[in-house]
Amino acid sequence: MTSEMISKFYDFSGRSMVITGGGGVLCSEMAVAIAACGARIAILDRDLSLAQKVSDRITKSGGTAIAVQADVLNLDRLAEAKEQVTKTFGDVDTLINGAGGNNPKATTGAAQPFFNLPPEALRFVFDLNIVGAILPSQVFGRSMAERKRGNILNVSSMNAFRPLTRIPAYSAAKAGVSNFTQWLAVHMAQEYSPEIRVNAIAPGFFLTEQNRFLLTDQATGALTERGKKIMDHTPMARFGTPHDLLGTVLWLLSPASAFVTGTIVPVDGGFSAYSGV
Ligand code: NAD
Repeated sequence: MTSEMISKFYDFSGRSMVITGGGGVLCSEMAVAIAACGARIAILDRDLSLAQKVSDRITKSGGTAIAVQADVLNLDRLAEAKEQVTKTFGDVDTLINGAGGNNPKATTGAAQPFFNLPPEALRFVFDLNIVGAILPSQVFGRSMAERKRGNILNVSSMNAFRPLTRIPAYSAAKAGVSNFTQWLAVHMAQEYSPEIRVNAIAPGFFLTEQNRFLLTDQATGALTERGKKIMDHTPMARFGTPHDLLGTVLWLLSPASAFVTGTIVPVDGGFSAYSGV
């Protein structure tokens, strides 16, 4: 391998990528970093105004982006979104399945025992995280299979390795995302092409809107009991910032990881390595 090839690992020019949930806290930073590497990026989100903000931020700094409204649970709309992206940017070679999250109604607590969690809240969380990764992979993965090249990156979580207390549906759904990542990696490589790779990142604890008031007190901003426990179990003793994910994301999308597929890479400040003793 020449030094020129190595120096071009992170030159994504000529590539077209889609990121679902691209209007969100973590995925918007991924989108900005991907565009900075030269890729054309479609910011797909259920909330078009969030997607538009990220797209504007990228285009203002000289990158190439479009905002696309779509629900990751609506197959017809995803197919239309794909057509829109392909017309604008050409064939999509990379999909990042970023849309996901928990729901307070699917979280146990003093006023909400496990036995009373409403089925519709449980289904919402399962659907968003696991079905919401599978459907876009069907829609965008089909053309990767036809072209025999592509890259899919899922967003799993720490709770896929060992479940976290209080969030049974989210933990099980993210375990499903990790399992699906391995399944799809094998399926794509064996049935279509070894040049279609599927991996996941498993972020540790990042303070975002989804978990802010589980981890910090709404009135004082101080760590909650749960926040303190996380800190005590994170050898690096801090929450992650969205920027902490970028190196791993870019590596998994780049030819630098050409022989890596079916992996779930923790980005967690050491949380998953620490037994607590
Ligand atoms: P976020 O809520 O900021 O972003 C999620 C985005 O997804 C939002 O823009 C939302 O509009 C969009 N979205 C929601 N439902 C959608 C749907 N049905 N179709 C299309 N778009 C939809 O969340 P975040 O904290 O940035 O999380 C991003 C990903 O990282 C999620 O998969 C989350 O589960 C995962 N994650 C987050 C953390 C954390 O600490 N924040 C840790 C581990 C994993």
